[in-house]
Amino acid sequence: MTKARSKVLSLLSGAAGPLSASSIVKSVSDCMDQATVYRALHYLEENGYADSFILHCLSHGTERYYTAVPQSGNPIHRHWFHCESCHSFTDLGECLLDSVMRGYEKDHDLTIHTHTLYITGICRGCKLKGCLS
Ligand SMILES: [Zn+2]
Ligand SMILES: [Zn+2]
Ligand SMILES: [Zn+2]
Repeated sequence: MTKARSKVLSLLSGAAGPLSASSIVKSVSDCMDQATVYRALHYLEENGYADSFILHCLSHGTERYYTAVPQSGNPIHRHWFHCESCHSFTDLGECLLDSVMRGYEKDHDLTIHTHTLYITGICRGCKLKGCLS
């Protein structure tokens, strides 16, 4: 793996939640350009080191977000909640939609490879703040 790829991967693994491509570009701007970051992200995703999803937030528009895929054990597909107020992510844990997808496949004679789900709203922290003010 090239230096750029391992640098981007270590950023993703160290993050508490998903990182947008543009925030990754910003945080490594001193050592690589945008094209290098995008190529690295593409490589990481193609090779199973990273996962990505698209999320739309009223404040910062539509962006692609990346997370690191743990290389030990079974990689689990998970979903995230995005707070529209503080823009933090909450890990919702393992996806529970598998049986729903199997149902769609059966009912409509499809083969589903992936699905994307983004959930937005107000997080617990922001709700608490709202009550106090
Ligand atoms: Zn919040
Ligand atoms: Zn946001
Ligand atoms: Zn899912």
